[in-house]
Amino acid sequence: MPNSIFPATTAGPLAAVAPLHAFTTRALSFRGGSTAADWAELARLINAPDVSIVRVSQVHGRRVVHVTPGVAVPPDLEADAIVCTDPGRGVAVRVADCVPILIADEAHRVVAAVHAGWRGTCASVATATVEAIAGLGISPAELVAAIGPSMGPCCYQVDERVRTAFLGMTPDAAAWFTEDGPGHWKLDLWRANADQLVMAGVPRTSIAVAGVCTGDDRARCWSHRRDGAGAGRMVAAIRLSK
Ligand SMILES: [Zn+2]
Repeated sequence: MPNSIFPATTAGPLAAVAPLHAFTTRALSFRGGSTAADWAELARLINAPDVSIVRVSQVHGRRVVHVTPGVAVPPDLEADAIVCTDPGRGVAVRVADCVPILIADEAHRVVAAVHAGWRGTCASVATATVEAIAGLGISPAELVAAIGPSMGPCCYQVDERVRTAFLGMTPDAAAWFTEDGPGHWKLDLWRANADQLVMAGVPRTSIAVAGVCTGDDRARCWSHRRDGAGAGRMVAAIRLSK
């Protein structure tokens, strides 16, 4: 039985300050009949068997939901980032190539989980999340973040449509693309999201990039691009210590 979660080193500085988090491997699938068992196992892994893990209906946008004590979050709520200040609940996003980002400031009692595929990255969902946290009076300079296993710049080929969308957002996006044959580019969503976090005020040294590519690491990762419709999902989850 392979490990259900990636080693803490995957999360770099986040692991040091926010021990209650996990990036799952393909040992858990979060699909079919095993979903409930997988969520229960994940809750156990982040030492949260007694708390619920909030997730939302991910739609590749930039909406941020704030989970506060006593306020219910319906699972069909459409959003791609969850900020949590409730120590009684964890938060999670599901991915299978898209970029999962976990953010924390334990001292100021906030954590967040972000789902950033190309559309979400183009919409600056990571920036929106940091801005939402800043709106709570918490300085982005205090945040620590980890960019989890997802399709890397080695494998993530995109076409003109995607590049045009990014360049329409900001000329800075040119740095995230590498030519890869006529009409195609490799897109570095790890760098794009790290740059967005930095531009929002998170120190570069406080951001870990796992550097694990779902397209290459067959042993540990699900990949929608590689495995197709039968792909499971990998989950990034985090909670505050109590
Ligand atoms: Zn790769």
